[in-house]
Amino acid sequence: MGGFRPIHIVFDDRCQLHNPPLDHPEGPNRTHAIMERVKSSVLRDVVTIVPSRMATMDELTLVHDVNYILAFEEACLSGREYMGHKDNAICYETFEAALVAAGGGLQAIDLIEAGEAERVFCSTRPPGHHAEPASPLGFCFINNCALAARYWQKRHGVEKVVIFDFDAHHGNGIETIFFEDPSVLYISIHEHPSFSFPGTGYGEDRGGGRGEGLTLNIPLMPGAGEQEVMDALKATISPALERFSPDALVVAAGFDAHEMDDMSGLAYTTKVFGKLGVAARLWADSFCSGRLVAILEGGYQLDALAASCERFLGGLSLEC
Ligand SMILES: [Zn+2]
Repeated sequence: MGGFRPIHIVFDDRCQLHNPPLDHPEGPNRTHAIMERVKSSVLRDVVTIVPSRMATMDELTLVHDVNYILAFEEACLSGREYMGHKDNAICYETFEAALVAAGGGLQAIDLIEAGEAERVFCSTRPPGHHAEPASPLGFCFINNCALAARYWQKRHGVEKVVIFDFDAHHGNGIETIFFEDPSVLYISIHEHPSFSFPGTGYGEDRGGGRGEGLTLNIPLMPGAGEQEVMDALKATISPALERFSPDALVVAAGFDAHEMDDMSGLAYTTKVFGKLGVAARLWADSFCSGRLVAILEGGYQLDALAASCERFLGGLSLEC
């Protein structure tokens, strides 16, 4: 075991323009905390920071209804304070920020496919995995991870994509988009829906139609931590990846399962996120010719978020 391999981080100040009122937990201080931590960590010598780009309407409609995108833009530009529910707080610049966040995964994929990056983490916001094709939910407007997976297929001809989601909450939007799709395996490990937002993600929901068996929900009881995660990785997730044999890996990287983060009842230590990074890297190398893009989802306790993200990036880039 040696040092760290190069890692690219997509970060763009335009994401920080999404700045809901101060009491909203999903604010610019989240990515600020991550980037400050990275700059002072041992990883700084292997990290290259690149800006994002805005996703286009043609790209956004790979996973969203065009009328929803137009309504979202109109809601922001008309000065409304939220969309649908107060969780989904907006400001005038939220639409621009969301398109830059959505473009982060696309930028990352283009870098990888051009041979200019190995592994990329998108330190972007607003997050995405709760966003449905035609509605926002849970701080999310555009489904960044779902869009990245679909873009990889459509723009670069990659056939099978796995999305691994370790945010504390179930990514209902990703599940909806790919529920009947045989080309995308969605794996989510999250707090049990009986105890947690958004109330979806039961183990018996396993996809439908031609996508039967390609939704894999792993709900954990409140208080679950490292042992439960490692058991799931070994007993359930790795075998599912081996069966599916993906060509690319998208990681929905949420850090709100940390024991210090009160957005969930899960109790991961910081160390768990390092192990998740190592696991993702090994899967990408074993199954996906190294193709890996991780995109920030949740994580709201700033110290825990920054430390967990640093550990995760260390795991991703660790030389072995
Ligand atoms: Zn979450």
